[in-house]
Amino acid sequence: MRVLLTGAAGFLGSHLAERLLQEGHEVVGVDNLSTGQGRNLERLRRHPGFTFLRADVTQPLGVEGPLDWVLHFASPASPPRYLKLPIATLLVNAEGTRHLLDLALEKGARFFLASTSEVYGDPLIHPQPETYWGNVNPIGPRSIYDEGKRYAEALTVAYHQVHGLPVRIARVFNTYGPAMDLEDGRVVSNFIVQALRGEPLTVYGDGSQTRSFCYVDDLIEGVRRLMEADYPYPVNLGNPEEYTVLDLAHLVKELTGSPSPIVFKPLPQDDPKQRRPDITLAKKLLGWEPKVPVREGLERTIAYFREVATHIKHIKGGN
Ligand code: NAD
Ligand code: UDP
Repeated sequence: MRVLLTGAAGFLGSHLAERLLQEGHEVVGVDNLSTGQGRNLERLRRHPGFTFLRADVTQPLGVEGPLDWVLHFASPASPPRYLKLPIATLLVNAEGTRHLLDLALEKGARFFLASTSEVYGDPLIHPQPETYWGNVNPIGPRSIYDEGKRYAEALTVAYHQVHGLPVRIARVFNTYGPAMDLEDGRVVSNFIVQALRGEPLTVYGDGSQTRSFCYVDDLIEGVRRLMEADYPYPVNLGNPEEYTVLDLAHLVKELTGSPSPIVFKPLPQDDPKQRRPDITLAKKLLGWEPKVPVREGLERTIAYFREVATHIKHIKGGN
């Protein structure tokens, strides 16, 4: 297959690209490097089947040659990053999705949207099944991401209904693992970096809010299976293993052996109080469920972060 993948320099995009390249497919990676990392691209450039196109997908995209798939993974995903890029985040999910849907139509390709559990907002139903419509503040600070993804889902379903375009939509729940950007501000990378640096672990609020953490290899396996399924509506992909943020901080301290203290910082506005995927549909449709327990996934992630520790020291001026 020849696959166009947006967000290829990012965390999930680089893992998915690598998986497809290892399977022998050709990957055209597209990224504007707004939140992506050169380190991820270096990894991909070792594969002869990889080509890279630096482009902003909020502008129409001209791509030569045939395509079997258009996989849309470009979008800032970490709250502090999308809060700094509000209009770019709305546009990559609105205009970007439209351009990529048009490209898929033009090429006779199938289309895949990386959506998010954030479409459920601050959920009042727990765990969240795909049938739940969510609880989103349409003009709150997170709305630029949540509403951007809700629009992207609506547009994707409309292209399927109006044009018969084959589409897939994954609602991705908090995923972590090697190749995360050390500085991207999400909870797992923050806690591991803080623990390895011996700095305080910053728990927002009282840490009683929950998230459910999926190891990246499990997530990518779910994405691959969903690509092969004939189902045009959203499917939750995540690991139902749920932790409070405070328990996660203690677990990271234990696994790193770090003496770092835990400090409490203000809770960001509209921060969801709870989140856990109901993965009944993914189990039935894809025969998929996560295999890597959080403890083991964190150990692997910590090992990766230690490996790039020289880089961590470099950023901080060395100590
Ligand atoms: P990431 O920030 O590591 O990667 C996103 C990539 O998209 C970056 O390389 C960035 O430079 C690129 N990008 C952003 N805007 C662009 C534009 N206009 N044109 C071209 N490239 C652009 O984030 P990630 O964690 O890899 O997330 C990938 C996708 O998965 C996103 O769509 C995100 O919303 C979704 N998602 C991720 C998670 C998660 O836990 N990682 C959870 C839910 C949804
Ligand atoms: N969080 C935290 N400390 C940090 C970063 C995040 O306590 O240094 C909290 C954040 O407030 C949220 C949870 O951890 O309740 C998950 O945050 P993240 O940014 O990883 O993803 P979200 O699920 O909110 O998009």
